[in-house]
Amino acid sequence: MLIPEYLQEISETIKKTKNTVTIKLKCNCGGSDFKVYKSVEQDIVDIEHGFNEIIRDNGELYLVKRNFFGKIIKRIKCDNMFCKKQRKIIKVNCEKCGIEHIIFDNYKHGYDAIINKYEGNAANSNDLVEFKLCYSHPMEVFLKIYQDILYDDFKEEFHDLDFNTYLYSFSNIDIYGVASKNKKINIYSEETA
Ligand SMILES: [Zn+2]
Repeated sequence: MLIPEYLQEISETIKKTKNTVTIKLKCNCGGSDFKVYKSVEQDIVDIEHGFNEIIRDNGELYLVKRNFFGKIIKRIKCDNMFCKKQRKIIKVNCEKCGIEHIIFDNYKHGYDAIINKYEGNAANSNDLVEFKLCYSHPMEVFLKIYQDILYDDFKEEFHDLDFNTYLYSFSNIDIYGVASKNKKINIYSEETA
């Protein structure tokens, strides 16, 4: 089990098993204390009563409300309302040199992201994502990555995808921090498949 490319240069391997790898983040400057930021949940659209139907018009989906006679009186464009998952990004800032590293983005990393290809519009619009600092103090950061599928099986299923892509298609990730007094803090977990 190997580490996806985007993490290779900023980590060291702590533990490996057949299906998992645990790494510790280490900045290029040598620093290993980080401030951790998470993307803020986007607002869920609040839909008033009466919208009971979805129609397709010119290739776009709309949620519609009809009046007593069946005439559409209001419509809301669905856009990415049905996106499978909310965008989740975890980033860290090196305490020593200040450089920022994105350590997980559920539209780019993990099985669902690779196979469903969120890339394109959705995945590239990082500027719309707001972040908040999770913990006031910096900490050491660890990632445990699970890969349930063997590369041979993966290749069989998706012929056109190479080994690098395979590494990005991990099935689960746990991110945790260790601050002073060796206290473990769960930062983030996601089943990505
Ligand atoms: Zn650094």
